[in-house]
Amino acid sequence: MSQKDLYIYNSLTSSKEKFKSLRNNSVGMYVCGPTVYSDVHLGNCRTFISFDVIYRYLAHLGYKVRYVRNITDVGHLEDTGEDKISKKAKTEKLEPMEIAQKYTNSFREILKKFNVLDPSIEPTASGHITEQILIIEDLIQKNLAYISNGSVYFDISNYNEIDSYGKLSGRDLDNIKSNSRDLVSQDDKKNEFDFALWKKAEKNHLMRWNSPWGEGFPGWHLECTAMSKKYLGDEFDIHGGGIDLKFPHHDCEIAQCIGHTGKQPAKFWMHANMLTLNNKKMSKSTGNNILPNELFSGINDQFSKPYDPNIVRFFFLQAHYRNELDISESAIQASEKGFNRLIEIINRLSLVQTVKTKNDKLLDTIKKWENNCYDCLNDDFNTPMLLAEIFNSNKIINNIENNVTEISQVEKDYFINLFDIFLNKILGLNFKKDKINNDSVLEILLKLRDNARKHKDYKLSDSIRDELAKIGINLNDKD
Ligand code: AMP
Ligand code: ZN
Repeated sequence: MSQKDLYIYNSLTSSKEKFKSLRNNSVGMYVCGPTVYSDVHLGNCRTFISFDVIYRYLAHLGYKVRYVRNITDVGHLEDTGEDKISKKAKTEKLEPMEIAQKYTNSFREILKKFNVLDPSIEPTASGHITEQILIIEDLIQKNLAYISNGSVYFDISNYNEIDSYGKLSGRDLDNIKSNSRDLVSQDDKKNEFDFALWKKAEKNHLMRWNSPWGEGFPGWHLECTAMSKKYLGDEFDIHGGGIDLKFPHHDCEIAQCIGHTGKQPAKFWMHANMLTLNNKKMSKSTGNNILPNELFSGINDQFSKPYDPNIVRFFFLQAHYRNELDISESAIQASEKGFNRLIEIINRLSLVQTVKTKNDKLLDTIKKWENNCYDCLNDDFNTPMLLAEIFNSNKIINNIENNVTEISQVEKDYFINLFDIFLNKILGLNFKKDKINNDSVLEILLKLRDNARKHKDYKLSDSIRDELAKIGINLNDKD
């Protein structure tokens, strides 16, 4: 187990900071979930896998993590002002909630395939309308929001007297003013850069709730404020999402929270960088995307064969979560090779022959390697460095195979357990399954070879040995 401090890059301060949880041994983490109006693409999955590793590592360090990841089933608008889910409901001739359910189900199925753990709480925006209305009422009372023609807007000018809007994304108001492009009911607003807390529902709008300001629906940013506050409190440890959510979504969340509670909601703001395709952001709206099932079943034109979710997950983790990553067949194939090399390393380790005497020197070497692995994770969850370090274990295994050093069952068990911790438990890669399958096949081969040797069929026994050597499994006959 790591004894060292964990450092996390905080988007709020643009620096790596030592992590200390706000409440003893527990961590509150909120991650913005999907807008469930269509299937998630691989880019969305990359972000959720990044936070899955973060969740897994924090839990591994012994923290009791309450991980809240919401479902946006209302309020996320198109540029035209139409609610994304309502729009899809009309085209698919379904109830908006049927759309939300359908794509929530498919989202969960995909994340299961990627071996992503369920969050502790998965609240929906539509299930928290009352909480959102209460926050709006408070903001109106504090003169930080105003009612206009049945809608309610956050008043940026008044807010800027208590704190500066746009801090997280590093924007100042002049910059925001010149880039404001909100086509929705601009006439209702005092200033074009004010954002909607509540929108009046027009006649044909499907999703609508009663409010003190008439029938309408909540603005997108407000749901995350309402749900994070409800389940994690006014102040919590980590708030995450994709980097594209920094502005306006997260800057708006911060403004609402500071306006409402007087507190910066999250100690650490974490942002996962984008997956690109042909060097452009993967996105639902532009059509520049790949759906996970297309890749898993091999039906995407840009890929010549199917790829296992485990390989795709491994491919994602070979890049740091804060770096952009471009997906292509050649890149995935390189990952597939790397993945198979790792399986080979684990198989070779499971086959090394042990001696009776404990080897403390070797145990020290393994522990040093273990510390190096933890150093990578403690450096802002550096998964590519961790994987590189795991490949370095090859040197230790080589020395054992070449009889430079001996290994007893004690060191072997310790070593194998570390692979399980880093690869399966923390990175969420399914190495065990492959190993078990390979192990049983190997066992059969080894039995066949033993039999052949007993019957002096050296041609067969040598050919089994030679074929295994070709895939990196060297048998050391001690007799
Ligand atoms: P959405 O359903 O559009 O709200 O997105 C769900 C999550 O996926 C958010 O955290 C986004 O920031 C993230 N996301 C969207 N596009 C990409 C991408 N190309 N690469 C990585 N994450 C993305
Ligand atoms: Zn959010």
